[in-house]
Amino acid sequence: MNYISTRGDQSPKHFCEILLEGLAPDGGLYLPEHYPQVDGATLERWRAVYHEVGYAELAFEILSLYIDDIPAPDLRAICHKTYTAEVFGTGEIVPLRHLENDIWLEALSNGPTLAFKDLAMQLLGHLFEYELARRGEELNILGATSGDTGSAAEYAMRGKKGVRVFMTSPVNRMSPFQQAQMFSLMDENIHNIAIDGVFDDCQDLVKAVSNDLEFKRQYKIGTVNSINWARLLAQVVYYFAGYFQATESSGKKVSFTVPSGNFGNVCAGHVARMMGLPIAKLVVATNENDVLDEFFKTGVYRVRSSADTHETSSPSMDISKASNFERFVFDLLGRDGERVKSLFGDGLARVGRFDLSQHPAFNQTTLRYGFQSGQSSHADRLATIKDSFERFGMLIDTHTADGVKVAREHLQPGVPMIVLETALPIKFAETIVEATGREPDRPPRFVGIEALPKRVIRMAADLQALKSYIAEHCA
Ligand SMILES: *Cc1c(COP(=O)(O)O)cnc(C)c1O
Repeated sequence: MNYISTRGDQSPKHFCEILLEGLAPDGGLYLPEHYPQVDGATLERWRAVYHEVGYAELAFEILSLYIDDIPAPDLRAICHKTYTAEVFGTGEIVPLRHLENDIWLEALSNGPTLAFKDLAMQLLGHLFEYELARRGEELNILGATSGDTGSAAEYAMRGKKGVRVFMTSPVNRMSPFQQAQMFSLMDENIHNIAIDGVFDDCQDLVKAVSNDLEFKRQYKIGTVNSINWARLLAQVVYYFAGYFQATESSGKKVSFTVPSGNFGNVCAGHVARMMGLPIAKLVVATNENDVLDEFFKTGVYRVRSSADTHETSSPSMDISKASNFERFVFDLLGRDGERVKSLFGDGLARVGRFDLSQHPAFNQTTLRYGFQSGQSSHADRLATIKDSFERFGMLIDTHTADGVKVAREHLQPGVPMIVLETALPIKFAETIVEATGREPDRPPRFVGIEALPKRVIRMAADLQALKSYIAEHCA
């Protein structure tokens, strides 16, 4: 399998070449040249693999279709080392729980940092260690996080040989629990950098460093943001696992509702659907930061300024632009890299928006690709958390609540609706208390972490300052 850029660069690359890279050299995102097609017989075989052998083996089956430069026994070993009951809390790894009527919750948040990002990041940690050892190289991971990416990356990379992590985050925008998770790590190879700004300032800095090709080469800069194809690929697996748990045979369709920010999670759903997984709808749920909901409703993609980015109680979805969205637009526009380049390159930087409402492809977002969308507010979030706790005894986190709220608006009779549970309530305790008057349960390993010493430095949103810090700490 070869990979190409969404901005037109067709020079083919293999999986391990793009594994350690962020953006493609032309500023685009990598996608496979084509989506391998999965027929009904293969689906049935995978169903048995998941139920009888397990999630790790299902991951191996799916990853094998996209990775042809890691020998199969090695790839299988990596999958089995990653997806264990010890790391993810259950043998199913992503168990499905019934909420109400046709609505199910797929539990993706029982990994080391209690958010779905562990599912991809833990795999990435093992893949990086494997590939770096094979090459005899080192890598400096530069990332931006509004909370969950950073901790998931740090817990995946801590202590890994040949890897350092430089993680930027917006000052005081994460919950105390999230800050404590990250800043309490004392590992030498982990650097926490708090930036004066919002998440998108952090993301812009990371992009700017990555666009400086010489600096990137000299300091062996890589990324683990959701634009990394390997992360997206890892996430494809749990759409299949969710499907196998919600259905008994592969004639049936299911829908997914995905609490969304950077469009990474739901983009993995798009890939699964393109492979032939019988998905009826892919429902994008946003919070007050409704960039994506606006696009799917109107065809206008309008990037928000920092000042227009709301600070909400589902902070991991507080984005002003959705960095993976370019991947979907590439498919939507018939993989026209030139067109994508003109939409997302200078054009977007200059005018901050584009409008596909008059483009014939816009109708296809729903008709052909199954996308729908909705949004949820703080009041909706509180009501949904309270309601699912009082009626079903299920305590859900704020992001998952946005998903449940929007899922209820998109039900189709007889089609199971799977809401992806993206974090555990303990990560956002303040809002849970506001909604229910009750403190969420805290797993024993996290008791008292807020009081631990913190390892973090503060910095202005200044490209030069960030580069200097990296250069100093790479030796
Ligand atoms: C990262 C995150 C999201 C958003 O996922 P995207 O892939 O950026 O769309 C939603 N909920 C939680 C809890 C997250 O950590």
